Amino acid sequence: MYKISLITGDGIGPELSKSVTEILHAIHDKIGLKLEITTVEAGDSALKKTGKALPDSTLETIKKSDACLKAPVGESAADVIVVLRRMLDLYANIRPAKSYPNMPALKENIDLVIVRENTEDLYTGMEFDIGRSAIALRTISEEASRRIAKYAFMTADQRNGQKKVTCVHKSNVMRKTDGLFARSCAEVAKGFAKISFEQMYVDACAMNLIRQPESFDVIVTTNLFGDILSDEAAQVVGGLGMAPAANIGERFALFEPVHGAAFDIAGKEAANPSSFILSAKMMFEWLAMKNNDAGSLEVAKKIEDAVYGVVGEGTKTKDIGGNKTTGEFTQQVISKLI
Ligand code: ATP
Repeated sequence: MYKISLITGDGIGPELSKSVTEILHAIHDKIGLKLEITTVEAGDSALKKTGKALPDSTLETIKKSDACLKAPVGESAADVIVVLRRMLDLYANIRPAKSYPNMPALKENIDLVIVRENTEDLYTGMEFDIGRSAIALRTISEEASRRIAKYAFMTADQRNGQKKVTCVHKSNVMRKTDGLFARSCAEVAKGFAKISFEQMYVDACAMNLIRQPESFDVIVTTNLFGDILSDEAAQVVGGLGMAPAANIGERFALFEPVHGAAFDIAGKEAANPSSFILSAKMMFEWLAMKNNDAGSLEVAKKIEDAVYGVVGEGTKTKDIGGNKTTGEFTQQVISKLI
């Protein structure tokens, strides 16, 4: 049995959490993979109630679970996800962008994954006021750069893709920080002879993600660039509503949509739950790998097939050109799953 902690989040978070909970119950009841789901609070609502965006009890429950599913949180995101990534050493942020059938996509035949360094860069929030200016510190270390590069090459090796890693940076301007990142990736590349390696400046990458996204396999990059490029990649394949992510460490992992709390559509049953459902799919893949569990891998495959099947038939939420509510879409996925 797997213990899953679930952060219900803010904005559209509770609607996405309801959808994923229904799917997890179907997996438990009908497919027979035993799951124990514990709902916890973090984010704006927790801050209002308890004075803390990430209450101690939430952290304790997460630490006792096998994996965490996190719906998006609102304004207090930096006090939740950035802290969790650091405390649990979730150093690899994995953001796939894959073509789905029947999507309002910019291009077809895309199957890429962005491997984003998750612990350093401007995301550490080390900022200072100095007189009438403000300064941000950008830390890039050799250790973290090599660790994420290794993860990216191993991902390229395991994937059924082009066996290519593209290291994205801006070392012509940030010679020290991105210079170190690029050098570290190039060093790690030498240990993976079967994987081809290229380097690309981040501005060129932003352009190529629109011009020829099908040319990418695995992109490895620093924290902030990864954040921005993954929203772009998500839009190219169909939108943020279809974009899942994983935050992975040596012992623990947390799974969440790429997007934020989307307050503009909250409470309207208009959210596309695919981003969170596909995050759950990534969770089952990770649990399968960690525990050598074929049953969990099968569940992951079933989830993806069900989402593919539903959108392929044209049952879609508004953001991807349909008219289904969050609940209606979820029920269709469940009916394909079991
Ligand atoms: P953050 O900075 O926290 O990532 P953001 O300002 O980028 O947030 P998001 O909340 O990520 O904004 O969403 C941007 C827009 O994309 C939303 O306003 C919403 O219209 C749309 N969107 C995001 N997620 C979904 C979803 N699951 N279903 C439908 N539309 C979505």
